[in-house]
Amino acid sequence: MTHTWYSVKIPSLGSVVWLFCLLAPCWPCGAPGRNDLLLCRSCGHEVALGSSASFVHSPLALSHRNVSVLGGGRVPVQLLENPQGYRFEVVTFRVAHVHKHWPADSRFTWYPGYSWTVATCPQCSMHLGWAFQPSSWPEMVTEQQFESSEETFVALVIDRLLQENFASALLMTPKSFRS
Ligand SMILES: [Zn+2]
Repeated sequence: MTHTWYSVKIPSLGSVVWLFCLLAPCWPCGAPGRNDLLLCRSCGHEVALGSSASFVHSPLALSHRNVSVLGGGRVPVQLLENPQGYRFEVVTFRVAHVHKHWPADSRFTWYPGYSWTVATCPQCSMHLGWAFQPSSWPEMVTEQQFESSEETFVALVIDRLLQENFASALLMTPKSFRS
């Protein structure tokens, strides 16, 4: 797969824009069946499916908002703040293709009862979010243990993702511009 759009600058592309395409088939999405694929914004690595978004409530969330998407779906977004005061808008997913940096840490967790690891892009190592596992688990588990459990989830920072077909559509030349 070639991702010739990597170098495209999207200066004002906010999270709301890509969320329009997160879950539902819609304009400007094209290829059926791939229109909810979410990519690492830095390198284009395939990270998650919008359809695998699964809301996990954090009692520490500063705010919630449900973003409507075309087709009737809604994506819950939570605003969270880390101990250093940095704020992140995250969407939680049942599964995501990210590199998890064990050992897990139970301190400063946004989800009581769950320990976290930093989650990075497997391809470019960009920080994409955090992976959560029950605090009762050992700090070190295998990828297979994490993936096969129903109790684990991944929180991804929404502005570090890009929806694939929206990205592709940015390179389409409007008919009116063609000679
Ligand atoms: Zn990446």
